[in-house]
Amino acid sequence: MGAKEKPKLAMYWASSCGGCEISVLNIHEHILTVDEVFDIVFFPCIADFKIKDLKSYPDGHIDVCLFNGAIRNSENEEMAHLLRKKSKILVAYGSCAYEGCIPALSNLTTKDATFDKVYLNNPSIDNPDNVIPQQVTKVAEGELTLPLFYNTVKSLDQVVNVDYYLPGCPPEPPQIWAVLQVIVGALLEGQPLPPAGAIVGAGTTALCEECEREKQEKSIDRFYRPYEVVPDPDECLLEQGLVCLGIATRAGCGALCPSVGIGCRGCYGPPEGVIDQGAKMLSAIASVMNVGDESMEEDELVDKIQEVVDTIADPAGTFYRFSMAHSILRRVKNGKGDS
Ligand code: SF4
Ligand code: SF4
Repeated sequence: MGAKEKPKLAMYWASSCGGCEISVLNIHEHILTVDEVFDIVFFPCIADFKIKDLKSYPDGHIDVCLFNGAIRNSENEEMAHLLRKKSKILVAYGSCAYEGCIPALSNLTTKDATFDKVYLNNPSIDNPDNVIPQQVTKVAEGELTLPLFYNTVKSLDQVVNVDYYLPGCPPEPPQIWAVLQVIVGALLEGQPLPPAGAIVGAGTTALCEECEREKQEKSIDRFYRPYEVVPDPDECLLEQGLVCLGIATRAGCGALCPSVGIGCRGCYGPPEGVIDQGAKMLSAIASVMNVGDESMEEDELVDKIQEVVDTIADPAGTFYRFSMAHSILRRVKNGKGDS
């Protein structure tokens, strides 16, 4: 980078909802500073950049790339490799790039079952000829191609090396701004960058540490859906039988959801030292369930435990909503590999 050159910034959207791109705008007036400080060289969501522009850059031309979205198909993977090659710092921005997020819940099923549900057996579609997307379609003018839809959704670091992870669905604006400031400080003033592979823009402890709700000893004999109860405004939600993943989630958002009476869904991923967020939450829940007593026969106790577990709707989707691709499970067994 020359003396007067601005650092070059890219942002790309793979398999995701688009919320991560919007979250950058949520830093409000600071967006003007981003525009002032950075030269934006690839950001297809906001301007008409083409892949040929990206391919024309020398390797390492981009100083920082914020890559959001999971790797769902061959195009996502190709872009991940290309942006890795062209970028000095590659940030897995948001939960999809970091750990798979909602797209990776489809790892609980197969590509064939997904296509069946989306294109064939679905009450909201009209598809009498049972047309499903093909990778190659011959037309009079030649061949039309689509990216290969993978059987397994992957996180960004399952296909390329990632320098930093910025968690959240989407990341929270104060955290985004803090991370951008650190990067700008490093690029323009030679300040130190966080160690490679660090999770940035978040804390290290569990979310419960930054949640202001009162915590007592937990003892739960059933769970409730949010519409079934009006929670006490001050007490811990989990103690009131509302599933809250605060114990198994990294601090950083300021406990936004519990502060408005909604259990944390886990979008900041697991705290420091936890490998599998869903397993951590299952273990936490098992330890606070108050079911049966020593006089019960084992069969009776198992039935009682099952009754309580049955009050948790969609356990896999609840405990692995954001982290399926990065979990130890990773996907259901399907005998088809990843693609
Ligand atoms: Fe707060 Fe949820 Fe932790 Fe309870 S379980 S202290 S509500 S974050
Ligand atoms: Fe995400 Fe949980 Fe924070 Fe809500 S409380 S924003 S789900 S980490």
